[in-house]
Amino acid sequence: MPEFGPTGRRIIYKDGKPCRSCNTLLDFQMAMPGKAARPAVIAADLTAPVTVVEDKQCPPDVELLGRSSWTLLHSIAASYPANPSPIQQEDIKTFVSIFSRIYPCWFCADDFQAYIKKNEVQVKSQEAFGKWMCEAHNEVNRKLGKKEFDCNLWQQRWKDGWKG
Ligand code: FAD
Repeated sequence: MPEFGPTGRRIIYKDGKPCRSCNTLLDFQMAMPGKAARPAVIAADLTAPVTVVEDKQCPPDVELLGRSSWTLLHSIAASYPANPSPIQQEDIKTFVSIFSRIYPCWFCADDFQAYIKKNEVQVKSQEAFGKWMCEAHNEVNRKLGKKEFDCNLWQQRWKDGWKG
């Protein structure tokens, strides 16, 4: 079982198998038993009918899952009320709590839960929740060595569109 993948990242395993939603597709494919030596193009049978496979979509890797999930999370923040009722505040707290426990990349989920424990979800207003989500995203950006996002701009990115 290789420890690192072609991207240079450590490969995450669960129960001895590489975890698809915790690794990049490239690393996952390399770590799959029997897949490493698989040629990209399998020798063609020129008599076989042509099958179009380009449109086949694969399960998400850690990056596609992450990008799609942040889109959902920030969009939920963008549609959260400016003045939420007590029930709406409870709902959003419950949602974030459940999300952090069922997120398919389990080691991402563990860190997200730890973040929530240290930084209580802010649900008093859309502004507070949107900023909280932005800070939570920045925590992951820092962990991955990515650029931090300016949280004063989260509404332009996820709600109103860019000015000018
Ligand atoms: P993303 O980080 O997915 O961002 C998408 C878009 O959001 C960006 O293009 C930008 O326009 C905008 N954006 C960026 N930062 C912010 C911000 N702070 N606030 C608002 N908008 C912003 N991956 C791992 O490898 N390890 C992890 O431990 C890990 N933990 C994760 C935890 C959670 C809860 C989630 C949802 C994802 C996690 N990911 C993790 C995935 C990771 O955060 C990225 O989604 C993935 O690496 C793809 O990155 P990306 O460069 O496409 O942009």
